[in-house]
Amino acid sequence: MIRSDTQATLSAARRVVVKVGSALIVAGDAPRRPWLAALAQDVAALRKKGKEVLIVSSGAVALGRAAVGISTGIAPDTIPLAQKQAASAVGQFHLFAAYSEAFLAHNLTAAQVLLTMAETENRQSHLNARAALEVLLARSITPIINENDVVSTGEIRFGDNDRLAVRVAQMVGAEAVVLLSTVGGLYTADPGRDSAARHIPRVEAIGPEHVEMAGEAVPGLSTGGMKSKVAAALSATRAGAALMIADGRDSHCVSRLHTGALRATLFVPQNNPLDARKRWLQAHLHPRGTLTVDAGAVSALAKGGSLLPIGVTKVQGHFRRGDAVAIAAPDGARLGMGLTAYSDAEARALAGRRSAEIPEALGYAGPDTLIHRNDMVLFGV
Ligand code: GLU
Repeated sequence: MIRSDTQATLSAARRVVVKVGSALIVAGDAPRRPWLAALAQDVAALRKKGKEVLIVSSGAVALGRAAVGISTGIAPDTIPLAQKQAASAVGQFHLFAAYSEAFLAHNLTAAQVLLTMAETENRQSHLNARAALEVLLARSITPIINENDVVSTGEIRFGDNDRLAVRVAQMVGAEAVVLLSTVGGLYTADPGRDSAARHIPRVEAIGPEHVEMAGEAVPGLSTGGMKSKVAAALSATRAGAALMIADGRDSHCVSRLHTGALRATLFVPQNNPLDARKRWLQAHLHPRGTLTVDAGAVSALAKGGSLLPIGVTKVQGHFRRGDAVAIAAPDGARLGMGLTAYSDAEARALAGRRSAEIPEALGYAGPDTLIHRNDMVLFGV
């Protein structure tokens, strides 16, 4: 059962976020290069199948700790934040260099992307990061993402990257998230301590019993622990993405997961990602302005299109890129709302003009759409 589950989920997914834990990528103070070479080969194989892969990788602190004088025996949670940030600054460089080299050997270009959770909550940064990721994916470049530890205000710990992986999946509409660590998924009890512990291959809906089973984080290199993974699974599945937890220690774990040969726990998605996103938009947005559109735009929107500048006849209010704005029909009826890709001043300059004229109208290039259809919710158009 487990085999066909992970296989079917990965085969159906077009975009996949793979999160790599520190313990997989680092041994002692050095990157595990053969493991990384196998990962690059697996990613290359997925790309050939037309899939887009984004990697969220930990390991910066682990790779930089020796350079800033943190000895290996110390539990990550007891290291002062500034020291971990300094270690990350050293280690991130080596981490990305190791990825870049391994990926290049398979003719894959890697891109280093450093994000913070706080930034991804800001709509403008969210839109910018997403737009950059889209460009990378369209060019077949593999984003290698980590938290920008030096500017993080919270502690660097407890599966920050599990949450970051889910956030990235939401940002780019990935259908599946794979959390690779040193455990083969969820067990009824800690398999290290209880020989009667049973593996759970599939979780249909996460309940308190699953949080209970996850227990506490195990101290050591990986700070993630199962609790943060189950929490990540909850937000991923609520947002419509499947989440898999698998033991990634051995080489070629991604391709073995893809063929169903690797033990994993699959958390089944609850909604379609786009629907979930639109529901979120509807519940959270307070429009700061209105874009009135012409009849042509109304029928384009009804067919599932984005809102282009050419269809806009009037711009009201003051808003910035990333703000919510209402969309109104020629008679003033509210059609829906969405996140605007341009400020009100830019929207006024662009209203009624073709997308090809954007660079000329603004003096710089920008998105073709005023509101992308994925950032829009319509009220029964
Ligand atoms: N950003 C940290 C690092 O690269 C890891 C955080 C985590 O493991 O969740 O070392």
